[in-house]
Amino acid sequence: TDPAILRNFCIIAHIDHGKSTLADRMLQLTGVVDERAARAQYLDRMDIERERGITIKSQAVRMPWTVTEGEQAGQTFVLNMIDTPGHVDFTYEVSRSLEACEAAILLVDAAQGIEAQTLANLYLALGADLHIIPVLNKIDLPSANPEKYAAELAGIIGCDPSEVLHVSAKTGFGVEELLNTIVAQTPPPVGDADAPARALIFDSVYDTYRGVVTYVRVVDGSLKHRDRIKMMSTGAIHEMLEVGVISPEPVKAGEIGVGEVGYLITGVKEVRQSRVGDTVTSAHHGATEPLGGYQHPNPMVFSGLYPIDGDDFSTLRDALEKLQLNDAALQYEPESSGALGFGFRIGFLGLLHLEIVRERLEREFNLDLISTAPNVVYRVVMEDGREIVVTNPSEYPTDGKISEVYEPIVSATILAPSDYIGAIMELCQTRRGQLGGIDYLSEDRVEIRYTLPMGEIMFDFFDALKSRTKGYASLNYELAGEQAADLVKVDVMLQGEIVDAFSAIVHRDAAYAYGVSLASKLKELIPRQQFEVPIQAAIGARIIARENIRAIRKDVLAKCYGGDISRKRKLLEKQKEGKKRMKMVGRVEVPQEAFIAALSTS
Ligand code: GDP
Ligand code: MG
Repeated sequence: TDPAILRNFCIIAHIDHGKSTLADRMLQLTGVVDERAARAQYLDRMDIERERGITIKSQAVRMPWTVTEGEQAGQTFVLNMIDTPGHVDFTYEVSRSLEACEAAILLVDAAQGIEAQTLANLYLALGADLHIIPVLNKIDLPSANPEKYAAELAGIIGCDPSEVLHVSAKTGFGVEELLNTIVAQTPPPVGDADAPARALIFDSVYDTYRGVVTYVRVVDGSLKHRDRIKMMSTGAIHEMLEVGVISPEPVKAGEIGVGEVGYLITGVKEVRQSRVGDTVTSAHHGATEPLGGYQHPNPMVFSGLYPIDGDDFSTLRDALEKLQLNDAALQYEPESSGALGFGFRIGFLGLLHLEIVRERLEREFNLDLISTAPNVVYRVVMEDGREIVVTNPSEYPTDGKISEVYEPIVSATILAPSDYIGAIMELCQTRRGQLGGIDYLSEDRVEIRYTLPMGEIMFDFFDALKSRTKGYASLNYELAGEQAADLVKVDVMLQGEIVDAFSAIVHRDAAYAYGVSLASKLKELIPRQQFEVPIQAAIGARIIARENIRAIRKDVLAKCYGGDISRKRKLLEKQKEGKKRMKMVGRVEVPQEAFIAALSTS
């Protein structure tokens, strides 16, 4: 395809502003899927994605479009729409998808205005030198306020409010004009057709039948069927079994050239061998310089996963192996816990990533799991200069020879109505935040910037933020290095025995309150047993809190007075269900909630 008729673009938006709906509408208008075949949200392929309404894996679709108005009317172009994941956990994948485009549609809900992820993605798009096409969506809504938000958008990207397009992805209003605008404003791709091939991998998906399908954007040269190709980060060489474009199903092509977006199948079995951000070149006379920006995925959050039934350990191991085929960022190694037995310590990109992995393990592999409270990674420097990377709080050194402890920090951006500045600052203060600055986006909306320890925002920060702002605040954050901090390990003992799975690393100033609140939470959560269970929280040998769960004779059936059999059965079933998420810790039955209770105490 002649690069002059190619237009590569993406849609960036805050969650729920209508990206998937707009993408579907474009697929229909360009005739790539017909109305009847269009199932809602064609691009969001995984069930979990559709249920949660988020997009995890980016996809690319090629659409022909014949311009309907203006100077280019009647000419046919090839549009490549690249779908980007919208969540902070996947920022790196977003940045790679953006690199594959020349323009970005900045889609904003006309009833909501700009949100934190809109801004974060806009900054990424500007960083990638993309042309920005500002669009207000949902203008069919009675609550839409297009004048106000067009002004807001225009103010941020520095254009005139009249240049902001108005569409309704739902009714289709304005979408034809948008397609024409994409053709008119998106710069055609530029590359050297005669240079050795260089293509950027912006997505890599495991398919049960075909192995790994790699999505690429060709920058220079071309990739041909049967070529031998090289992954530049590893030097690994593969034969290309198939190359093609997606429209909206895969269509084989002989080759893809400069500026084109398509897929490759090489017979590799794991997405790790075909990593997002890597450069593909020819094995023979290939390029010597990779495209810039490759990053190795680094897990930010760790958690232990343990089968409730110890016999499921090998099933869990097999399941993780399978998931890793499709998830280059997933890392795991076996660990054992005195309390929980044999399981795995798993590294995730963030909490959403953790939830998705856990849900897939349970749903697709039928496993019942206990997960320990997620924690960030601490770097501990000992007096003798040794360095210990702590991914499991129970491994935190306590022998007093610690010289310095470092914790990861993030720079966070919060957008909210200005009425809530006070409430937001108070929340950030209690989480050891440092104010970076406050800017007004319009009269009544502000952008607040904070540096915060990642461990403090990991779990319930977003919920706390939402509840303090009646749901109006939005949050985005990115890793911003690390800082030295005064941290201690708090242990929890049941019946005098330390339960390693409850250990946590907290700031010294908060440790006492943390211990007290955790002990009382555990007292609530752990059901009464047939014997007494003392709970203690301790820093080293010093007990900082204690509670006691009194003994009970737990004969629920006695309540049924013999008679009603069906009622009795119901009770038994209910009891069984309750047990599903219980784990025996020593002699004590502990429910799943207890393992994560620690995090919602502060
Ligand atoms: P995404 O998270 O950005 O992909 O957003 P979705 O496309 O999933 O849309 C979020 C919600 O907004 C869904 O309930 C859509 O039906 C709805 N929606 C999307 N576009 C429009 C629109 O133009 N008008 C109205 N009224 N609703 C819309
Ligand atoms: Mg979506």
